[in-house]
Amino acid sequence: MTADPVAIARDLVRCRSVTPEEGGALGFLQDLLAQAGFEVQRAVFAEPGTAPVDNLYARIGMAKPNLVFAGHTDVVPAGNETSWSHPPFAGEVAGDKLYGRGAVDMKGGIACFVAAALDYLAVNGGKPKGSLSFLITGDEESVAVNGTVKLLQWASQRGEKFDHCILGEPSNVEFVGDTIKAGRRGSLNGTLIVTGRQGHVAYPERADNPIRGLITLMAALQVALDQGSARFAPSNLEFTSVDVGNPTVNLIPGEARARFNIRYNDCHSQAALKTLIEQRARAAAAGRVHYAFDWQPSNADVFVTQPGPFTELAVAAIAEVTGHRPKLSTSGGTSDARFIKDYCPVLEFGLVGQTMHAVDECTPVADLVMLTAIYRRIIEKYFA
Ligand SMILES: [Zn+2]
Repeated sequence: MTADPVAIARDLVRCRSVTPEEGGALGFLQDLLAQAGFEVQRAVFAEPGTAPVDNLYARIGMAKPNLVFAGHTDVVPAGNETSWSHPPFAGEVAGDKLYGRGAVDMKGGIACFVAAALDYLAVNGGKPKGSLSFLITGDEESVAVNGTVKLLQWASQRGEKFDHCILGEPSNVEFVGDTIKAGRRGSLNGTLIVTGRQGHVAYPERADNPIRGLITLMAALQVALDQGSARFAPSNLEFTSVDVGNPTVNLIPGEARARFNIRYNDCHSQAALKTLIEQRARAAAAGRVHYAFDWQPSNADVFVTQPGPFTELAVAAIAEVTGHRPKLSTSGGTSDARFIKDYCPVLEFGLVGQTMHAVDECTPVADLVMLTAIYRRIIEKYFA
C-alpha cells in the first residue's frame, strides 16, 4: 500500500474537528490504520464540566520496543472564515501549498507519520521489528483534560508500554529539520490580591489605597528569576491583567488584583518557585502591605528530555535526509509532551510552525514530502 501524505493531510483538514468535535478525523485514521493491519481502539473520556472527547490508540506488532507517534486531530476554530483566501476546511492545494486549519498544527504531521509508517510496513512484510503505535487525541487545543493525559493512563492500565515517543507538533522555525523540541518550560498562573481600606478620595488619611501596595509588590516581582540554564532561556514572570474594577471617581477602592503567568525553567521546581515569589513579596511588603497569593493548579511542570541514543537517532535521521543537523530546543508553550514524559522519552518534531493558529494556515507540499521522508528514516533506523 502506498500512502500519499498530501492526500491524507487534505482529507484530515476536511474533517471539521474543532475541539471537542471529532469531525470524522479519528474515524478516517482508524480506517486507514486498520486496513494496514493495526489494531485500533477508540476511547471516549469525560469529566464533569467538560465536553466528552474521542481518542484513538492503534498498534501493530506485539514485541518491544514500542515506538509511539503522538498527536492531536483537534484544531482551534477558524475565526472569521471569510478572511481566509482558501476555505479553512476545504483542504485546497493551491500553488505549492496545502491550505486549511490544522495543515501544520497538526494534521499535516499526523499524515506524514501515517504515510511513513504505511510505507515502512509495505516494504517490510507488513510488520515492524517491534511495535509501532499511534496515540491520537481530540483534546489538545482546548483544556486538554479528556485527551492525552487520560489516554496514557487508559493504555497503561491495559498493559501498554511505550519505549520512545515522537510528538508531531510543528517544532520547526524556518524549515523542516531545523529544530527538535527536547523539553519544555513549566507554566504557572497566579493572582496577587492586595487589600486596603475603602474610603473617600478627599480623605486619604482615613483610607488605605491597595493600588499603592500592589504597585510596590508588582515592581518587586518583575526582577529576574534566574539567568537561564544549560538547556533553557531565563524564566519569566509576566503580569497579564491588573484589576481594580472601580467605576467611581471619588472612591479609594478596598482591593486590587494582578494576574500573572510564569514560564519557568529547570532552575526551579514549582514549589520552590512559589516560595521565591512569596519571599520577594514579603520583603517588598515590609509588613505594611496586606496581600495574598492565589495560585492556580498547574499540570505543566518543566521537563527536559536528556540526550541519549534516541535523540541521536532522530538527529542523525534528520541530518541524513535534510543535510542539516537540527538544534535541540526547549522554547515555546506547553504541549502534550508534558504528560508523555512520565511514560517514556519524548521528542517533538513536525512541520514548520509559522502559520499555526493563523488565518490561511498552510504548509508547503514539499514540507509534507520532506517530513514523511524524515519519519520514514527514523522508523527504519529505530527497527534496524
Ligand atoms: Zn498542536
